[in-house]
Amino acid sequence: AKPVVAIVGRPNVGKSTLFNRIVGGRVAIVESEPGVTRDRLYQDTEWAGRSFTLVDTGGLDFQESGEINEGVRRQVELAINEADAVLFVVDARAGLNPDDLEVALIIRKSKKPAVLAANKVENFKFETDTYEFYKLGLDEPVPVSAAEGLNTGDLLDRLVSLL
Ligand code: GDP
Ligand code: MG
Repeated sequence: AKPVVAIVGRPNVGKSTLFNRIVGGRVAIVESEPGVTRDRLYQDTEWAGRSFTLVDTGGLDFQESGEINEGVRRQVELAINEADAVLFVVDARAGLNPDDLEVALIIRKSKKPAVLAANKVENFKFETDTYEFYKLGLDEPVPVSAAEGLNTGDLLDRLVSLL
């Protein structure tokens, strides 16, 4: 079976945008409001000759419970459980958020291989803002722009090297 890669992160960081960028279509719904992805969404894709199944996770639980931490935690735990590797997305423009630390803790506990994407980096001004994400205790953050497709190739190189 193909390895499974779960995209995780708190709502609104750009997970669905990155998912669409990687699979090359508009499969996942991108919304300015957090909590739009209804369920986990699966799509087979490949990079550099390596096939894998990419999973987008949403924030419906967050909407229902009205409690961001609980919803994020549940989504992340479910997704990581069934994944072989994790693509953790944070928002470089918003900066480090307490929920990011919580997600990072779950990932570290899972011992699954992970890459850290610092999203929304359309220009160098924001690249320096990615340094604070070293505090997450994961690998070095990879600055990307899912919206513009900047540096996503480097991110995928790194990701498939873990599979
Ligand atoms: P999700 O909740 O994590 O799935 O986030 P979405 O993919 O739905 O995106 C949330 C918001 O961030 C939307 O308004 C997107 O247009 C915006 N967004 C996503 N990626 C980027 C990016 O690379 N740069 C910028 N500037 N905005 C982005
Ligand atoms: Mg989404």
